[in-house]
Amino acid sequence: METLRKQILKKLSESPKVFEKRKGVPLEYASNVFNNKQLQKFISEKAFDQMQLCIEKGNQINPLLADQIASGMKAWAVSKGVTHYTHWFQPLSGTTAEKHESFFDLNVLGDQIEKFDGDQLVQQIPNASSFPSGGIRNTFEARGYTAWDPSSPAFLFENTLCIPTIFVSYTGEALDYKTPFLKSLQKLDDAATEICQYFDKNIDKVNATLGWEQEYFLIDRSLALTRPDLMITGRTLLGHAPSKGQELNDHYFGSIPTRVGDFLSELERECSLVGIPIKTKHNEVAPSQYEIAPVFENANLAVDHNILLMDLMNKVAYKYNFIVLFHEKPFDKINGSGKHTNWSLNTDSGINLLSPGKTPMSNLQFLSFFINTIAGVFNHKDLIKASTVSSSNDLRIGFNEAPSPNLSIFIGQHLMQVLDDLENVSKGKLSPEEKTDLKLNVIGKIPEILLDNTDRNRTAPIAFTGNKFEFRTVGSKSNCSKLITVLNAIVTEQLVHFKTAVDKLIETKKMKKDDAIFNVLRETISYIKPELSLEEKKIDQNNLQPTPKILPSYVSSKSIDLFKNLEIFSERELNARYQVDLEAFISNIQIESRTLGDMARNHVIPTAIRYQNVLIENIRGLKDIYANSYHKLASEQLIILEQISKYIEEINEGVTLMINARKKANTIADFYKRAIQYSEIVKPFLSDIRYKCDKLELTVEDNLWPLAKYREMLFVR
Ligand code: ADP
Ligand code: MG
Repeated sequence: METLRKQILKKLSESPKVFEKRKGVPLEYASNVFNNKQLQKFISEKAFDQMQLCIEKGNQINPLLADQIASGMKAWAVSKGVTHYTHWFQPLSGTTAEKHESFFDLNVLGDQIEKFDGDQLVQQIPNASSFPSGGIRNTFEARGYTAWDPSSPAFLFENTLCIPTIFVSYTGEALDYKTPFLKSLQKLDDAATEICQYFDKNIDKVNATLGWEQEYFLIDRSLALTRPDLMITGRTLLGHAPSKGQELNDHYFGSIPTRVGDFLSELERECSLVGIPIKTKHNEVAPSQYEIAPVFENANLAVDHNILLMDLMNKVAYKYNFIVLFHEKPFDKINGSGKHTNWSLNTDSGINLLSPGKTPMSNLQFLSFFINTIAGVFNHKDLIKASTVSSSNDLRIGFNEAPSPNLSIFIGQHLMQVLDDLENVSKGKLSPEEKTDLKLNVIGKIPEILLDNTDRNRTAPIAFTGNKFEFRTVGSKSNCSKLITVLNAIVTEQLVHFKTAVDKLIETKKMKKDDAIFNVLRETISYIKPELSLEEKKIDQNNLQPTPKILPSYVSSKSIDLFKNLEIFSERELNARYQVDLEAFISNIQIESRTLGDMARNHVIPTAIRYQNVLIENIRGLKDIYANSYHKLASEQLIILEQISKYIEEINEGVTLMINARKKANTIADFYKRAIQYSEIVKPFLSDIRYKCDKLELTVEDNLWPLAKYREMLFVR
């Protein structure tokens, strides 16, 4: 009987399927977003102004105002033929969640009425007891509440009005990514604005900006369906590397294949409707790997857009019979995927604080933010790491082209020189000559230096890229607000230290403002310098720390102090997150291990036995014909036969041992200890069993093999 894989390949080899393309309907950018333009049409001017003020100051929106906005929002949505609404939120499970409600309700007379007012807009109680909460929400208080985030506009997705919300427990503790993220943005705004006041009294708001670069694989869906591992875990747990991988680099920036191009056009159109400002799309290093990136936006909106994009990609891919793989390492020995996260700070007047300006003063402002960001990162390197690790990202970080786990910051040789020069300024008050020299020859040169910033580094885990910091350890699947929440917090803490130190010099030493700033910067540079390096330390791949070893930094006393002082996380919330991450690690390895066990026993071993039967029949035939001299003629067949038997035995035995290791690990109540057990005892079986299955894939007749092979998944487009 022909395998499903062979049937699919046969179909694919027939004339290419032409997908019906959407008509080129002229479309208005963001026409499915209830943005300020729509708001102004649907609510009164006074209400609009009130709302803007609330968003700017982070104040609560009163019930009366909420009613007005809700009624405007509903009128807009209904005018677009929408019938349902949902609170859209980001639980810790890593995806988004929605609970759809109809606008329609019945009144006391049993007639249909439309119901959606301020109450429905502001709060919803999804009966959500099965989202991960790390123990915060016990079953007796199973309710979680979603609450409207007015700073991210509502949008239409298919037939539904989606309202971005936070998700908190009955007792007010965060159960999602957005709640602490919004708090961190507010704290950062406060601290950064105070620093800006040294340089420009007109600045009274600072926003973090974020531009992500989403990498992914696009694989033929029918082929993927032959692989339980891809469908269940998002990555291939077995499969031999193809004879050609990415060695020739012919895919990177190559021309985009037709079906992929059609997928991208439709995706771009969908993005445009919901206001995601997609700017670049291109092939990535590995075959069938791509990247899509937008223009940067305010961080909160950028995160919402990234998550929405991932949803849209899945939906559009389905129409073109593709499947999108967001996993960090879907294919062994082939480049993995990340989500480079570019972060900067923007004032309300549109000045990028990580970009030098035209005057010495604005360059000093740039240096203050630049140096303090680096110092913040070095104060809490472990926490930065903890916010990006996961069982899937462990497979990427530190290998091949991927970023190193040693969190060094690459700033380039020229900026390094600037820091050297600044470190050498005199202690205390600077002479007028020294100041002039600094302003002219050091600070004044920064804009030129950055224009000519040719020494770019591509694989450093963190890099300053001229006007923003780029964090490259973030995994392609993850919610990048997890890292940015930590980053905002540590930069806030550092900016507060900086300001305290500067003010102290001004008050006690009667220094001028710029003298004080130079002095504190000089000290900060001495502190961070040993950590800045131009070359990467060599990575010992046998010594990479797995996720469970890194996660405890979340609950170190240093981390608890940081988040408690800034009122971003309580100790209980941090602990809950730590537990959720440990549990996710355990579950992922557990699911992978089960899936591999099933595949080894239900797919690989039976296929190997089938091929053995082919060989046996052949050997028996030779014996029939050649009688006693058959042995010489069948000698190779006999060797293969025995090899297969040996692998079958070892694989089957390996699966039994792996199941026993899981059983033993599952008896450990403490999540940390259980995660370590999964990492050290269960996980090694995955590669051990895989190695043997892959050997069989190379041996067994191609026609019999049931699982799509790497060469097919990666090269059929
Ligand atoms: P690269 O050479 O690394 O591709 P780009 O200038 O194309 O550099 O930017 C890459 C990413 O950085 C894009 O996603 C973009 O949105 C983002 N980006 C650019 N400027 C900023 C900024 N000021 N703040 C945040 N992200 C930014
Ligand atoms: Mg990049």
